[in-house]
Amino acid sequence: MLSRGDWGAKPALDGQQAHKVRRITLHHTAVRAKPARALAQKMRSLQRFSQSDELLADGRRKRPWPDVPYHFYIDVNGQVAEGRNQRFAGDTNTNYDPAGHIGIALEGNFEVDRPTAAQEQALTALLRSLIREHGLTAADVGTHRNFAATACPGRHLEARLPAILKAAAR
Ligand SMILES: [Zn+2]
Repeated sequence: MLSRGDWGAKPALDGQQAHKVRRITLHHTAVRAKPARALAQKMRSLQRFSQSDELLADGRRKRPWPDVPYHFYIDVNGQVAEGRNQRFAGDTNTNYDPAGHIGIALEGNFEVDRPTAAQEQALTALLRSLIREHGLTAADVGTHRNFAATACPGRHLEARLPAILKAAAR
């Protein structure tokens, strides 16, 4: 696991909301994976985007978030990076309250591509450990589109979820 120190995270900004973890929610990055780019670089660039006022693809403005919106990020090679501190709720551009959710983002657009075997393995191991850590069950693991009008995390990841959850619960 690449810690925040490993990827060169800046401190979180003010305004994070403490929350009690009740579930785990999966996301994709919704853009094609970049296998040659270092994970540390991807995390720094995600944090730069997150902490600034940005224009979104659909023309809306995004307010600056205190930190990266996700608690974990799994790159296309199956390497995991630590994101936002788990004690604080994430952030979203969609219409649901992310409080209570641990957010995990997988790199890729799974409407188009399939998750890699390395990503599935890393996700299985991460879910197993988070389920144990927070006293959850596999039934507490869902996807972004269970909560908001979005295609996230993409049909190909959605299709793999039952098998991944079965493996994580073992
Ligand atoms: Zn999402």
